[in-house]
Amino acid sequence: MNEDTLRERIVHTARAMNALGINQGKSGNVSARVEGGFLVTPSGIPYEHLLPVDLVLVGMDGQANGPREPSSEWRFHRDIYRTRPEAGAVVHTHSSYATTFACLGRPIPAFHYEVAFAGGRDIRCAPYRTFGTQELSDVALAALEGRKACLLAQHGAIAFGTDLADALRLADKIEHLARIYWQALQVGEPPLLSDGEMDLMAERFRHYGPRPA
Ligand code: 13P
Ligand code: ZN
Repeated sequence: MNEDTLRERIVHTARAMNALGINQGKSGNVSARVEGGFLVTPSGIPYEHLLPVDLVLVGMDGQANGPREPSSEWRFHRDIYRTRPEAGAVVHTHSSYATTFACLGRPIPAFHYEVAFAGGRDIRCAPYRTFGTQELSDVALAALEGRKACLLAQHGAIAFGTDLADALRLADKIEHLARIYWQALQVGEPPLLSDGEMDLMAERFRHYGPRPA
């Protein structure tokens, strides 16, 4: 895909966060991998005002190129691309229900089989670190070990995927699961699926999706 098309798709993904209700005001950020680095949303620009030209090209060495400041969270985007070769795009949100559990420092356990969409038996919650720091990136990367999504305590959530649509779908799924978990907790303590069942589900989801035509 050429860079112009990718820029348009990133803007489309950022705006889709508004449409899906997983963005609050201007929070979160979106990126996609390119040769030698990644394109990321600029810091602080509301998605409805975002233009393809506003996106910032950041090299794996952290050098930013563009008229705007890159997202303050460029470090965890960079570190995901550096350590997870399967990652083609990253979506970070402060979506309401996921952030509710993040504020409690609570992971999302195996209360529903779709938790395994994130790659494993649960969706971990990384401990709190100041936004935009290498420390936040380090704890996020640890929480993402063997997973494609995690919560960030007192902050939000991260999801990555093979491409922008994949990452957005997972970010939206995390929010949906967090909402269902929250609802279930209003009634009682939901029983959890076994590790064996969740391992099986994670394996299934590795091959799940439409077959190429
Ligand atoms: P940016 O606007 O700098 O991307 O920051 C938003 C955010 O979510 C910080 O964690
Ligand atoms: Zn954030």
